Amino acid sequence: MLSLHDLVKVYPGSVTALQGVTLSIPPGMFGLLGPNGAGKSTLMRILAGLLEPTSGRVELDGVDVTERPELVRERLGYLPQDFGFYAHLSGLAMLEHLLALKGVDGPRGRRALARELLERVNLGSAAERKVKGYSGGMRQRLGIAQAIAGDPRLVIVDEPTAGLDPEERVRFYHVLAELAQERIVVLSTHIVEDVAVLCPRFAVIKGGRVLRVTTPTEARGRIEGAMFEGFVERGELEALSRTQCVTQSMLVEGRTRARVFDPKGQPPPGFALARATLEDFYLALVRGALQVPEAATDAALVGSGAR
Ligand code: ADP
Ligand code: MG
Repeated sequence: MLSLHDLVKVYPGSVTALQGVTLSIPPGMFGLLGPNGAGKSTLMRILAGLLEPTSGRVELDGVDVTERPELVRERLGYLPQDFGFYAHLSGLAMLEHLLALKGVDGPRGRRALARELLERVNLGSAAERKVKGYSGGMRQRLGIAQAIAGDPRLVIVDEPTAGLDPEERVRFYHVLAELAQERIVVLSTHIVEDVAVLCPRFAVIKGGRVLRVTTPTEARGRIEGAMFEGFVERGELEALSRTQCVTQSMLVEGRTRARVFDPKGQPPPGFALARATLEDFYLALVRGALQVPEAATDAALVGSGAR
């Protein structure tokens, strides 16, 4: 179990990136979903023991990460948002180098371990190729290979799917899903689909605060019966957005189709009930259209075993 107690981070220049984050994260995949600037990377760096919180505590299986970062570091894998690559090296050479930096060795040597790790992330056949020729997805999988070296208990991946094309994203999902079989994986993202595909539980974070901890099913259920879809005339969308929570608008055959969240069940004329999606829930929540009752905290969910 990974426990975060009332984490606050104020950067020099008095930017408050985290305003008191409390979460209990059990083994498996846990999503941290939020817009740019929400505080995700700040939180991830604190979890990785690389950044000190202004106040608050992090515990991994009862060990205080903030006080004893060295104890946790060996049980930790981290893929930062801006993972640097040595473009002129082969994937194998780069991974070997990273393993050496991390101080991880295999029973049959570091090179053999690097090859094994590359196989695990489906890069075996690209081991000898230079990293500069790797696609975005291949680079991210190489990043995962270094993160899981030493079989860490906790793996932290910060926005790993940003910039991947759809096919690469799906391949990457499979690699991540396998990781979460026997450890805690914390995945930060601004892409709702990542959460829908991978995370039995997730937190929505915005402005350094946790708005909600929930499950995809519960989240969709929360707005079921309150989502409506219909066409609006050109130029009407702006007026509609002023009075209603519009979660999505798109052009369909030259006309504008909008999705509206209306908790009272009073949609605009001509709108029909639509199936709620996780994206609708997320957008309604971050736009402040969903009430956030005090009870909707982590403790409430952990107790109910809602996974
Ligand atoms: P996210 O990863 O969700 O986009 P960040 O944790 O990177 O969010 O940033 C949260 C807030 O903290 C933002 O307002 C950002 O500008 C600010 N911030 C991040 N890093 C620093 C830093 N090193 N110094 C000052 N402010 C920072
Ligand atoms: Mg970030």
